[in-house]
Amino acid sequence: MVTLSLLPDPVASATAESPRILLPGAVMEVRFTGDVSERQAAAIVDWLRDAANQVSAISGTFPVPEPRVEVIATPGTRWNRSPVPFGRVTRSGGETVELYVDVTRPIEDLYADWTASHEFSHLMLPRIHWRHRWISEGFASYYQNVLMTRAGHYSANEGLRRLSAGLERGRASRPELSPNAAARQGIGRARMKIYWSGAALALLADLEIRERSAGRDSLDAVLGRFQECCLPSNRRWGGTEFLARLDALLDDPVFMPLYRQHADEAGFPDVAAALANDRLRNEIFVVRTSPN
Ligand SMILES: [Zn+2]
Repeated sequence: MVTLSLLPDPVASATAESPRILLPGAVMEVRFTGDVSERQAAAIVDWLRDAANQVSAISGTFPVPEPRVEVIATPGTRWNRSPVPFGRVTRSGGETVELYVDVTRPIEDLYADWTASHEFSHLMLPRIHWRHRWISEGFASYYQNVLMTRAGHYSANEGLRRLSAGLERGRASRPELSPNAAARQGIGRARMKIYWSGAALALLADLEIRERSAGRDSLDAVLGRFQECCLPSNRRWGGTEFLARLDALLDDPVFMPLYRQHADEAGFPDVAAALANDRLRNEIFVVRTSPN
């Protein structure tokens, strides 16, 4: 990741006809900014469709009906070798995913990059208060690895390696802070703690739901039920409000007990047993359980 100041401003210069991607339950409008040829634009639209449909497959429909994507063409720099150096979701006037894309890179490099999967995963959750941003960043960081593996862009070994490595970065980062304290310090001071402590909570919740239901229920299915009850939402949710709502969609709560255990606790959740759980490789990375 580079800082945003190194990147060009996303000036609004959408072409007269912005491409639209038909997704299950949604139409995604794509706007390009900067120097992008028609051939590049068509290839990028195909890549975005692939990444968006990774998220559609979780519940059967894309989480929000009218998402927009702003693709900002970004030259590669020697400081930054990522093909998608920056992405974010903005929500004023509907959900917009901004993706800074190095259009000089071969399209295969975009398919191998997790940024679009991460940003589209954010749309499964409503806007969450910044004090609980470790929850929203955590769910997206968990799903970026799950979705890239399900789509075949990572092998199961690679997905497991990346998830383990991310969680290890989180464990090593600012061990004196709890997740809530890390969120108060901000992304600049506690990035890995924020992203990966929330991913640990998502992983632990997913496995607990699957274990309790003998594989009949899952985080995918709970998020599908949340989508039905509560999305799209044009307001900001508290982190605990969101987790309590997920618990209300289960017979027995999973999320708030995990929150109470970890949110104000320094250190990092113990994920060793979770990473060794066969359900990760055999269920989570392979197929989703049927929603509802
Ligand atoms: Zn994010």
